Amino acid sequence: MTSALSARSTEILAALTRLREADAPTHGGHVLSYVYDSGRAELDQLAAEAIRIMQPVNGLDPTTFPSVAAMERDLVRFTRRMLHGDQEVVGTVTSGGTESCLLAVKTARDAWRSAGGSGTPRLLAPVTVHAAFSKAAQYFGLELDLVPVDTSGVLEPAQLTERFGPDVALVVVSAPAYPHASLDPVADVAAAAAAAGIACHVDACIGGFVLPWWVAEDGGALPLWDFAVDGVTSMSADLHKFGYAPKGASVLLHRGRDRQRAQYFATRRWPGYPVVNATMLGSKSAGALAAAWAIVERLGEDGFAELAASCQRSTDAVTAAVRTIEGLLVVGSPVGPLLAVATDDMVPEDRRVDPHHWADAVREHGWLLQLQPGLVQADGTRLPHATHLTITPVTESVLPDLLFALTSAADEVRGVPAALAGSIVPSEITDVLASLGNRADPLSSQEASAVLAGLGIGAGGSVLPGRMAPLLAVLEALPAQLTERLLVELLAGLVDP
Ligand SMILES: *Cc1c(COP(=O)(O)O)cnc(C)c1O
Repeated sequence: MTSALSARSTEILAALTRLREADAPTHGGHVLSYVYDSGRAELDQLAAEAIRIMQPVNGLDPTTFPSVAAMERDLVRFTRRMLHGDQEVVGTVTSGGTESCLLAVKTARDAWRSAGGSGTPRLLAPVTVHAAFSKAAQYFGLELDLVPVDTSGVLEPAQLTERFGPDVALVVVSAPAYPHASLDPVADVAAAAAAAGIACHVDACIGGFVLPWWVAEDGGALPLWDFAVDGVTSMSADLHKFGYAPKGASVLLHRGRDRQRAQYFATRRWPGYPVVNATMLGSKSAGALAAAWAIVERLGEDGFAELAASCQRSTDAVTAAVRTIEGLLVVGSPVGPLLAVATDDMVPEDRRVDPHHWADAVREHGWLLQLQPGLVQADGTRLPHATHLTITPVTESVLPDLLFALTSAADEVRGVPAALAGSIVPSEITDVLASLGNRADPLSSQEASAVLAGLGIGAGGSVLPGRMAPLLAVLEALPAQLTERLLVELLAGLVDP
């Protein structure tokens, strides 16, 4: 209790509160990514109390702390039912979407090996699959085979299934994919995968706790996307997204106990205690698990349905509003409470709105959208750069102000050409590339920070500029590998004491 704290502890908490003042606002609906605000203060309070109760517990060992197993069992049961899994579907609670995706890949790789697979396994997915799968391929030694989608983010199933082969350990589709909210053709891909004996993961990290209550654009049901499809062998669904739980909780489900056991790590071959871990961490907090458990208990299916309906009303309103803004378009046919916005190239150049300039202008109005760079795919086609919005239940309480900001911001930047429009590469970039020559060895930390400074990023004072469009354009113009190296330097610099 705060009243029992010493003066020093009170000061420390005050300092912490001051640090938080520099953060983006986590409540109130002004940040349209990263945070998933139910708009219900009671849920936050419930989660905080749940975390406090579980604070000293070690989630490492559910035999010593049976509360951990009890909460996890309840969450797996709820999620399995929600995603139409039968008694053969089992699972675990992980620390988040990335861990669920990593473990889905590790499990599939090991199951593939047990079934006789040898050599380098391949991970096959549309290019819109979450970056966590690229991370998994890197961590676990799989070759990542990314299939191009059309410029609306839509996958033609045959483009993926024609690449099936005995080396494919896992095919991944998304419900929906994060960049453009495209709902991948789960039924087609999973059926073909089952026929070929290939495991199929549906990444429902973002959609899992909201699509079960989502109504399709035509007013009907969505195409099947979960365990109702036979060939689906595993699924991920994040509690800390549309489960409205604080960060640190996601569910990973597998069809079949035998398959799921490949997820575990166990050893008694060291002099310490026998280690059995379902997930990647050892000792871990049970706080996020408890908070997620409490929120799911509180909401139940009806509560989730109500919150999903609110998300749907707001998403429909935002989508309709963006569609009336001259110069912008909504990419593809988004499914779920998220969408990407790009330039409408069908209008004359002086009427076009660049989505990154737009995002910067929207930010001036006090709203934070997420900038996505363009991407050249393996077949040479380019997915346009876009701006991403995730809509949450809180959006409904600020909807008129948000729509006003989106519309006014477009008026402010209409006709302003995209940064680096027409592939005019600015001298900073040509200088950087010239200075690096054809170097294949990685840049040293000193070299990388010098390049960043040359680009006017990160050196002294604020890390990121107020306007992001020019920065994104520069990052997009540089080779991907160099960009990645520079981003590492930028982020490592943030915590360098
Ligand atoms: C958020 C997300 C992930 C990764 O989840 P984190 O919780 O950020 O680690 C994976 N897939 C999709 C589709 C996502 O939206």
